[in-house]
Amino acid sequence: MRTTVMYGAGDVRVEEVPDPVLEAPTDAIVRVVRTCVCGSDLHPYRTMPASGQGTRMGHEFLGVVEDLGPAVAGLNRGDLVVASFAYQDNTCDFCREGVQTSCRHGGFFNTAQAEFVRVPQAAGTLVPLPVGEDSPLLPSLLTLADVYGTGYHAAKRAKVDPRTTVTVIGDGAVGLLAVLSARQLGAERIILMGRHKSRTKLGVEFGATDVVAERGEEGVARVRELTGGDGTHAVLEAVGYRAAYEQALGVVRAGGVISRVGVPQYDDGPIGWGLFGGNVTLTGGPAPVRAYIDELLPAVLDGTVEPGRVFDRTVGLDGVPDGYRAMDRREALKVLVRP
Ligand SMILES: [Zn+2]
Repeated sequence: MRTTVMYGAGDVRVEEVPDPVLEAPTDAIVRVVRTCVCGSDLHPYRTMPASGQGTRMGHEFLGVVEDLGPAVAGLNRGDLVVASFAYQDNTCDFCREGVQTSCRHGGFFNTAQAEFVRVPQAAGTLVPLPVGEDSPLLPSLLTLADVYGTGYHAAKRAKVDPRTTVTVIGDGAVGLLAVLSARQLGAERIILMGRHKSRTKLGVEFGATDVVAERGEEGVARVRELTGGDGTHAVLEAVGYRAAYEQALGVVRAGGVISRVGVPQYDDGPIGWGLFGGNVTLTGGPAPVRAYIDELLPAVLDGTVEPGRVFDRTVGLDGVPDGYRAMDRREALKVLVRP
């Protein structure tokens, strides 16, 4: 089969590798119908040291079950399924507590930008979809694998509800879907911090009431101005750079919550009076998206929400290297792949 391999910063190739096979009775093999490039794939795309061996890529996919291990219950060959970007048994104590990304038998996918994927813990990871392979809903359904569930996780962790004012930092796919999620959870004031006009325009369609294009101290001052000097109850940080965290500290209201879902690209940052002085809660982490798929699925199926609008380019597997380049140069928001 063909798969995506990254050999270093800016060096993504599509290569032939052996087809995956069942390795454990709890595995399934899925033929990928849709996959995509994630904003988090851009971090290694910018920083990975050159390597002769390369690393396979991709963690978002939906597809058709081709083969099943004897211990997989609840799935059949031929089912169209979506996977969460982390696999899990969905039955252990951590899974039951809603942190599936910390599952005792779990892990993270990194081979999904390919024609086939081996899925460990298939019963706890794959969710059957009641549509066909030709459904126009596939892009929106694919967002359940990561970006929609991740935006939703940010909002849930920040306890967003109709009484909450919200700032979303970042106008990538996760930031825009954090806006959509905050709106779904009832927030009426949602300030989106982002400077790419075509993206913030979609953010407004998803429910943002204000857009702040300024960054850093200027951006903080602008959000403060919009909120009577107080900042917002919830700050959903969907970028991952230290500057975005500092911006979050600047716009959070006393007693509020900073919820981070951008993978942090830093280990050190201010946790002193700026965080402590306002009784601010700092939370967030890799989203246990499996916990949210059942909850988010109905509104996708009935068309109430269209999270798939974050995809603005579609390529085949051969187009994946160009897809990375386009996202890196901000020419594409999110690239959908049809292997
Ligand atoms: Zn588990």
